[in-house]
Amino acid sequence: MEARLIDGNALATTIRGELAERTAALQARGIAPGLAVILVGDDPASGVYVRNKTAACEKIGMRSLQFAYAADTDPAIVFARIAELNADPTVHGILVQLPLPKHFDSDAILEAIAVDKDVDGFHAENIGALAQGKPRFIPCTPYGVMKMLESAGTPIRGAEAVIIGRSNIVGKPMALLLINHGATVTVCHSQTRDLAFHTRRADILVAAVGRPKMITGDMVKPGATLIDVGINRLPDGKLCGDIDFDSAKKVGAAITPVPGGVGPMTITMLLANTLEAAERAAAKETK
Ligand code: NAD
Repeated sequence: MEARLIDGNALATTIRGELAERTAALQARGIAPGLAVILVGDDPASGVYVRNKTAACEKIGMRSLQFAYAADTDPAIVFARIAELNADPTVHGILVQLPLPKHFDSDAILEAIAVDKDVDGFHAENIGALAQGKPRFIPCTPYGVMKMLESAGTPIRGAEAVIIGRSNIVGKPMALLLINHGATVTVCHSQTRDLAFHTRRADILVAAVGRPKMITGDMVKPGATLIDVGINRLPDGKLCGDIDFDSAKKVGAAITPVPGGVGPMTITMLLANTLEAAERAAAKETK
């Protein structure tokens, strides 16, 4: 039997419908949830991501503000903009599109964002809260993965979860979330000696590397849930994930496609975090 498809587009549509209702409810109280997006440089992929995020906001009735800067911009200008947005009560979420040009200290930029507007969840304080099991903002991609596991009915408590990739934006927060939900977690990375040894034990396998089709069916445990975070462009222009979909779907029980899997969920959870930030700000005001 072939693995069931975990449809990110369908789940994203359902969740965005609920978010649109919550946005309208806030607006009825005179509060318009707003996300500010800062883009530095002219990386075409970053430009596409920012446009998609802005369009997604508008579609659910959320305000979005865009600030674009040339690649050679003085970081002081961006710091000043962040400070302004931090102080602006009509802005509930702030995100700086990564990667930044080399002359920027990305960590310092991320730390400059107010903790209660850090809707990407990358601020050290928010990562710390997640590590302590008391998350305030969950980084969007791992948050989306958790929603997909939930929708697929995949048991997490006691499961062997293997994550491939240890980045600050995907692999590490993914590991923290799965630990917090009771999985036994292994994190593999570029220095891991025998990758297949680990992947074959995984009830839940999350691939976040950026190498086309590196996880083949023979590396998968029968009945596993397979989550493909990777986005790779093949020479023919088509997109594919880190998991070889055709061979893996014959072994796993459930699998996410690329495209149409984790990608739409990431933006959805960004909207969810922004709305959450606006709802928290509104609750503070009415206290
Ligand atoms: P990254 O480059 O920061 O990290 C890649 C990780 O892969 C590193 O931790 C590295 O140690 C590990 N790695 C490299 N070679 C390996 C190997 N041979 N075996 C095992 N591990 C290896 O990347 P990232 O930002 O975490 O993104 C990973 C992938 O996910 C990329 O394809 C990216 O485009 C994609 N991505 C998708 C979404 C989404 O919304 N779907 C969001 C973020 C990232």
